[in-house]
Formats: sequence, structure tokens, C-alpha cells
Amino acid sequence: MIRKDYLIAALEQMARDIIDHEEELNRLDNAIGDGDHGTNMARASRILVMELPEIVDTREDLGAILHQVGMRFVSEIGGSAGPLFGTLFLRAGMANRGNDTMDKAGLVMCLEAGAMGVSQIGMSTEGEKTMLDALFPAIRAMQKALEVGKGYKEVLAAGVAGAHEGVEYTKTIQATKGRASYIGERSIGHQDPGATTIEIIIRALYKAALEYIRE
Ligand code: ADP
Ligand code: MG
Repeated sequence: MIRKDYLIAALEQMARDIIDHEEELNRLDNAIGDGDHGTNMARASRILVMELPEIVDTREDLGAILHQVGMRFVSEIGGSAGPLFGTLFLRAGMANRGNDTMDKAGLVMCLEAGAMGVSQIGMSTEGEKTMLDALFPAIRAMQKALEVGKGYKEVLAAGVAGAHEGVEYTKTIQATKGRASYIGERSIGHQDPGATTIEIIIRALYKAALEYIRE
């Protein structure tokens, strides 16, 4: 079961890993966008690290915690990534409203709810060289692992592998959504920064599971 201690550890791991990758994410965005993706995500992550203790104290259930994180991302991240990554957490929170625990199927379902939300507000789908090209393959890989009865850690490991494959795939396609679409065919050959952040996030969920989830 996923409980509050795991969720908090995972969120902190996620924020720290994003901060560690700030320069790399900026560099990736510099090649096909305006070079601010790392700055945007790291800024919100620093605020999250600072505010996590307060969020833990005042928010009881998993849904409310995820909602708070989503609100931070929406209000603190500039550019298009704010509403997009914010929506991922807001929808994941909605899917867990009032829940104190989440099982592994619930974890995959809430990622799916988040991905659908991003797709809706981004008016985007797979194959457009965005964060969704890491998110949807990760979810599919996790669903497959669930179907064959894998445990949490294996489900998350499958998610990491799926996200990584998706990130690699973004190098081969042209951007048709977001700022990178402005450079058309010249976006081919470059890795999408938002997809890279998704891989970092899912890897953080996996890393925290190694420590906090026992099966
Ligand atoms: P901005 O593009 O406003 O500078 P960021 O650089 O922070 O914002 O984020 C860029 C990332 O956002 C892209 O790498 C891509 O993954 C994601 N993105 C952009 N537009 C969309 C969209 N319509 N749907 C899904 N993801 C998108
Ligand atoms: Mg940018």
C-alpha cells in the first residue's frame, strides 16, 4: 500500500532530482525552445521542498496533498509547463480525493487520470514530441506489469523503462505542439525536455519505493 510517508518521500525525491537536472533540462529546451524548462521546473521544485513540511501537516489525505502540489506547479511555473505539469498533479489528486492509501492499480490509474488531463488542456496526444510521449508509454508499461501480477517496485521499474523509451522516441519525431513546433523539421534529432522531466519524475517514484514500500 502507498501511504502518506511514501508519497511525501517520493515528492521530495522528485523535487530534488528535478533541481539536480535543471541545467540539462535548460540545455535540452535551448535546442528546440527558449531554454527555460529546467529553470521553470526547478523553481517550483525548490518551493515544493520548502513547503512540503507544511503541506504534510495541514493536508491529511493523498488526494489533498497531490492537489496542493498541483496548485504550486500551476502558480509557480512559468510558460506552458506550469498548467501542464500542474494538471498532472491536480488530476492525480482528484482521483485520490479522501484516500489515505493507494494500491498499485490506483497508482497507475491516477497517473492515467493525470495524463488525460494534460492531453485535454494541452490539446495534444502522443507522437507530438511532448511530455505525453514519455507519460503514456510509461503508463502502458505499468499496466502490463500489473496484468502479469508484478509488485509495486517492478511496476514502477517498468514505468521508468517505458518513460525512457518514450524519451528516446522523442528524438526521432518532429514537434507539432508547444514552442518546439515553431522550428518545424529542425526539431527532429533533439530530445524533448518535458518528456525528460516525466522520466525523472517516474524514476523518483521508483527510487522512493525502494525505501518506503515493502512487499
Ligand atoms: P515553454 O514551452 O512555455 O517555454 P517549458 O519550456 O517549461 O515551457 O516546457 C516545454 C515542454 O512542455 C515541452 O518540452 C513539452 O514536453 C511540453 N509541452 C509543450 N506544449 C505541450 C502540449 N500542448 N501538450 C503537452 N505537453 C506540452
Ligand atoms: Mg521553454
